[in-house]
Amino acid sequence: MDESLLIHSASHSYPVWIEDGIRHHTAELVRKAVPDYTKVFIIADENVGKLYIEDILSSFPAESRPDYTLLPAGEMSKSFAEYERLITECLQQGLDRKSVILAFGGGVTGDIAGFTAATYMRGIPFIQIPTTLLAHDSSVGGKTGINHPGAKNMVGAFHPPHGVIYDPEMLRTLPPEEWRSGYAEVVKHALISDKPFLNWLMENVQDLSLLQGERLKELLKKSIQVKADVVQKDERESGIRAYLNFGHTLGHALESYAGYGKLTHGEAVASGMIFAVRLSRAELNAALPENELRKYLASLGYRLDLEKEAEAVKLIQLMKKDKKTAGGRINFVLLEEVGRPVLKRAAEETLLHLLENEVAK
Ligand code: NAD
Ligand code: MG
Repeated sequence: MDESLLIHSASHSYPVWIEDGIRHHTAELVRKAVPDYTKVFIIADENVGKLYIEDILSSFPAESRPDYTLLPAGEMSKSFAEYERLITECLQQGLDRKSVILAFGGGVTGDIAGFTAATYMRGIPFIQIPTTLLAHDSSVGGKTGINHPGAKNMVGAFHPPHGVIYDPEMLRTLPPEEWRSGYAEVVKHALISDKPFLNWLMENVQDLSLLQGERLKELLKKSIQVKADVVQKDERESGIRAYLNFGHTLGHALESYAGYGKLTHGEAVASGMIFAVRLSRAELNAALPENELRKYLASLGYRLDLEKEAEAVKLIQLMKKDKKTAGGRINFVLLEEVGRPVLKRAAEETLLHLLENEVAK
């Protein structure tokens, strides 16, 4: 089976396979990605495990079916306690330097299973089998990690996978809010890279519950390619990787204002993107299709302008605390036009004004 994409990281290149039903070929693809592996161990999200683990296991010959462990669903699993348990499991399984961990689930599973692989014996190979739409974003790029009780994603490592096996058929069982959460990152990838891609999305994706088959495959491929292009140029985030943060400066502040878990990431990012578009118009006089974008996102069921329900001063404080803020300055990714992102420091007065004032329709 040929890969859909090949991604280059500083340490190695890895294939991304995207195909309906491909989970039934997991064993064969794992062997392709890591030809000399000794053993496979699967770390699976519990919901995903219930639905699909048999499909993965039965792709292996009966005498060499891998063992697996289930991870409780949700962000709380990216914890030190769960990480310690997984390392213990790896030891008990007798995994060695040539063993492979399969991360089977959404971004939560990918992040903690990847971090386990990054640190067990100072690093063993792992393969991502993403099962959410959001995970098209998290499964490439090489960032892995867990949360500290006081700060999200604060403990981590760069550890690119050896392969990504993406079977879009599994997305059918995702709840609508998870579709929206992931789709915000697709729209973000289009906004920072490519006007034709944005137009294609607006024309071809009008109902997330109907997104499947060739269109979904095409969308995943394009969106992963945008992320890969950025990350390949700047793996360790010294410059343009920051563009992937479009919509996230306010998005993160909204998430943390609401309390983690109250808003999905994508819903917060959708409001954050509209805000960044408004800011781009105010600061750069950018010609951007704000109203079209608003109408489009609203038609897909996103709640927008969430900042209007929060206190502006508190949001500004939260933005200043963001990990990506340097020296108390609030840097925003803005758009000169669709596909042309720039990094710009935003004046606090402008932010306050835009946060507090009614949306010009
Ligand atoms: P998630 O992994 O928590 O999955 C969302 C929910 O969907 C869970 O309840 C899960 O059980 C369920 N689920 C997953 N696949 C399913 C399926 N096929 N059918 C039915 N239910 C399914 O959330 P997520 O949105 O995929 O990922 C969010 C995480 O990703 C965050 O922790 C974030 O920090 C991380 N992330 C990492 C990167 C990175 O570069 N490493 C980038 C973006 C996000
Ligand atoms: Mg994001």
